[in-house]
Amino acid sequence: MFLLKYISLYECDLDGKISACVKYDKDRKAIQMKKIKRKKPKLKKVMTTCCWCGFHIGDNRELFGLGARKRPEIDISKYQGGVMPIRLATIDKTIWSIVPRFDSDACKDGKDIMFTLCSEACGEKLRDVLKYETELGKIIYSADSIGPLQ
Ligand SMILES: [Zn+2]
Repeated sequence: MFLLKYISLYECDLDGKISACVKYDKDRKAIQMKKIKRKKPKLKKVMTTCCWCGFHIGDNRELFGLGARKRPEIDISKYQGGVMPIRLATIDKTIWSIVPRFDSDACKDGKDIMFTLCSEACGEKLRDVLKYETELGKIIYSADSIGPLQ
């Protein structure tokens, strides 16, 4: 039988900047802990990469977007005009989102957070997870329909 010697756990806070990598021995005792830096992708990369499947969407392909509203009490102003990691606790996945500037049309339209998607299929999957995501419930208030992204 295969014996798992080390189990590594990667922890990422909402900030996404510092992740801790903890190694456990077979008795589940933490033997090593080091902080690793999570690389923050550039805005352009997040805008051209499907947040769900990671597919790089070329210039000639259609982009889809999913807008979401944050909970009013959550302050995401430091991410304004940039990218923000969102941890989907129920599926153990961290995806990147775009936070439009507060004076942008998207924001006035009630979209505080935008997700880039390669297809409606990926959008459906993301929206399904968002619906059941209790961890995300701290941030997302509602997610609206999937449509073309300019
Ligand atoms: Zn996709």
